[in-house]
Amino acid sequence: MSAGTTIYRAVAAADALGTQVRDAAVAVRAGRIVAAGEAGEVRRQVGEGDRVVDLGDVLILPALVNAHAHLDLTPIGPRPYDGDFVSWVEGLQRDRPRDPEAIASGVRRGLRLSREAGTGWVGDIASSVQSLRARVGAPPGTGVAGVSYLEMIGRGRDALAAAEANCRAAAASLVPSAWREDVAGEGAEDVRLAPGMGLQPHAPYSTGLDLYNLAASEPMDVPRSTHLAEMLEEERFIRDADGPFADFTRKIGKWDDSIRPAGIGPVAHLRATLARGRWLVAHCNYVDDADIAILHEAVASVAYCPIASEYFGHVAHRYRDMLAAGVNVCLGTDSILCQPAGEPQPLGLLPAMRRLHRRDGVDGQALLAMATWRGLVAMFGPGAREWASLRPGAPAMLAAVRIDPADATDALTQVLRSDEPARPVVMSC
Ligand SMILES: [Zn+2]
Repeated sequence: MSAGTTIYRAVAAADALGTQVRDAAVAVRAGRIVAAGEAGEVRRQVGEGDRVVDLGDVLILPALVNAHAHLDLTPIGPRPYDGDFVSWVEGLQRDRPRDPEAIASGVRRGLRLSREAGTGWVGDIASSVQSLRARVGAPPGTGVAGVSYLEMIGRGRDALAAAEANCRAAAASLVPSAWREDVAGEGAEDVRLAPGMGLQPHAPYSTGLDLYNLAASEPMDVPRSTHLAEMLEEERFIRDADGPFADFTRKIGKWDDSIRPAGIGPVAHLRATLARGRWLVAHCNYVDDADIAILHEAVASVAYCPIASEYFGHVAHRYRDMLAAGVNVCLGTDSILCQPAGEPQPLGLLPAMRRLHRRDGVDGQALLAMATWRGLVAMFGPGAREWASLRPGAPAMLAAVRIDPADATDALTQVLRSDEPARPVVMSC
């Protein structure tokens, strides 16, 4: 990246923190935004710049944030769902890449599809240490910032020992170098955003409280994630220790005496765990008011994956009730398996935003917040809000979507009504 100032020109620019302009410019220097807004005003602030890039008839956005993905499943591709989750999981286990090079190349493909869709940050579930290393070790210009949540699964002593060994192996290969406030100060050199490490106990039906407690423990001071309240079968497993997941657990020889009817739902089951540390919980398709209150009290964030939820037949997600209750809700894609075959940007966020705009009438600003800063708050905490903005000091992470300059409709609304793809403009990762 040059030390000079590059000015990107476009028909419009918008973020979800107050910038919404026509005849727009965004000035970038040393990996950061130094000014953004109406072109004449940006010129007054930073001069003519060393380089001007006219992006043409586009809306500039902050790079989008995919809060929940499984990049290492990308090589499997979209796959139909026949309504039987257990057989779907069995098929996935059969077909997922296994050898280290296949895992690494799958992750690289996921990273490429993310970047090409203007996604600059991903909360990725790494199902193995190889998967996490492939993501963190991506060369500059090919990676995606965010968090790699190392998955832990199972219950009992052996599963705990395996999870601890994986954590040590992953931590030993990592530089803990996510974007931090202390590198955001004045005079810092070119910014490169490397992803940080997090932990993900898989889900309450597959993973015991012993592993959840390991992830939540004080020495593991990293972002945490889990799948939660995704399916009715999960509710039945936790509440009654019964149903298809109980049968499946026995079938694969993983049943143990710690599995007993909890008499409460999955969110209440994890209440004490969620209160420890920062948690990003994926899905929450089945929650009641009491569950939403628990999520709010724990300051947990919810990654809603509307296309994946519809794929599995879950309807009437309560994301608007959650937002109204003060729960931070962000957007994710989940894995490529759940995306429609033929979707040109299966790891992009625009398809999810458009789904909610068209299906539920959600407005552009609310959707852009869910697809940008809400995802960063979920991964990094409230201090990360402005990283996914067009404000001075934010990392230079920009995407663009074509719009019609002759159309007076609000630019973001135009984007939600169209099917134009997003593309990357600049990515510091
Ligand atoms: Zn998932």
